[in-house]
Amino acid sequence: MLYLLNLKSLSVPKFPENKLKQLGKVGGSYAVKTFVNPLYHTKQWKALRLAILRDEPTCRECREAGAIKLATVIDHIRPVRLGGEMWNEDNLQPLCLSCHQRKSRSERTAKREDYD
Ligand SMILES: [Zn+2]
Repeated sequence: MLYLLNLKSLSVPKFPENKLKQLGKVGGSYAVKTFVNPLYHTKQWKALRLAILRDEPTCRECREAGAIKLATVIDHIRPVRLGGEMWNEDNLQPLCLSCHQRKSRSERTAKREDYD
């Protein structure tokens, strides 16, 4: 819990609003696939990611299915581009790569429906 308090006292960069608007206008899967949120390259994100993986090192979805697999990805349960909170631990879960890819695919499908 301490790491979250520390992170909150830092000035946390905001997701660029204009990027979100561009994505909304484009609305196609290509833009979503190629756009990487620059916040994932910040010190703050890397620290939060490591702290979560330290607390919960295995994939949450695999665990619910009865399997143990090492998590490598921190996933936003509600995607940031759909209004989910970037820095809220309650919106974050550790996943393995294959669970994350499966989840991202279904989110892209949902997103297209939102915009079309
Ligand atoms: Zn998994």
